[in-house]
Amino acid sequence: MIQSDVLTIQDVWAARKMISNHVRKTPLFKSAHLSKQSDASVFLKLETMHEVGSFKIRGATNKILNLSTEEKKRGVITFSTGNHGMAVTYAAQRLNIPAVVCLSNRVPEAKVNTLRSLGATVKQVGDSQDDAEAYCYKLADEEGLTVIKPFDDPHVIAGQGTIGLELLDDCPEINTVVIPVSGGGLFSGIALALKSCNSQIRVIGVSMERSSVMYHSLHAGHPIILNEEETLADSLLGGIGEDNKYTFDMVKKYIDEFVLVSEEEIAAAMAYLFKNHRLVSEGAGATGIAALLATQKNLVLPRDNVAVIISGNNIGAAPYMKAIQNYL
Ligand SMILES: *Cc1c(COP(=O)(O)O)cnc(C)c1O
Repeated sequence: MIQSDVLTIQDVWAARKMISNHVRKTPLFKSAHLSKQSDASVFLKLETMHEVGSFKIRGATNKILNLSTEEKKRGVITFSTGNHGMAVTYAAQRLNIPAVVCLSNRVPEAKVNTLRSLGATVKQVGDSQDDAEAYCYKLADEEGLTVIKPFDDPHVIAGQGTIGLELLDDCPEINTVVIPVSGGGLFSGIALALKSCNSQIRVIGVSMERSSVMYHSLHAGHPIILNEEETLADSLLGGIGEDNKYTFDMVKKYIDEFVLVSEEEIAAAMAYLFKNHRLVSEGAGATGIAALLATQKNLVLPRDNVAVIISGNNIGAAPYMKAIQNYL
């Protein structure tokens, strides 16, 4: 149990130990193209290499493994349609723990089937994400299931933070890290791990220009609500919670720079990864590259050692090809 409200590097070390038999270490790969282009050493952290295609498996696994025996027996529940829902389902299945995912009736059949095939019990209600969320909490109450939150949970944050430890292991001279931001669990965990070891390391957050709730919340000084616009970085959509307990404060404390990227820059970055590295990334996963390639954003100094987190690859073939075709 993480008792105090303040997470420390100890929690990240504990998470690494906890998940080590279940989540693989991902490669850190030097991009010759990006290094040449930015006159620095640029490394890609391939969080696309996990079983379900994103880093969310780290936090979900750490959270589930930290439940009590009784809680594990009763099972877990979530209302995420995306990478978090898949990670929770996958992790629970591996650990022989029942998982329920609540979805609205509007969620496309393909997504429902993916979650079912990973072993989730899918409950469909209402026609909005809010209906699914309300039902999720009701069912959790009635059946004693544990809701696994996507980012604002200490064990989830510590799990994502294990990426920071791997970066330090593989490239101790790292001095700049570029991290996609939505709810801020990924950013908070990595920044905690890095800054605890070396406060000189720069951590740069990236979101899309369209509906970046964390960015505008930081400017407002408190969590705000925004209408969602369609974006290629769909995994970065969603609020940060009006009662946000951890990630808002952690992002505020650690962030050195917050960059927003356009839809064109995201598409160009996805195409860049394909062209130069034959690497498939979803929009959210390519936002760090988008930030680096947009030269007017001038993020990197000569001779920097930079790591860019490629956070996920869940995108269908058709939307992928549509996104990259004009930039190849
Ligand atoms: C969830 C997610 C993010 C953002 O993570 P947060 O912890 O919500 O900031 C980034 N990229 C991908 C692919 C994701 O699934």
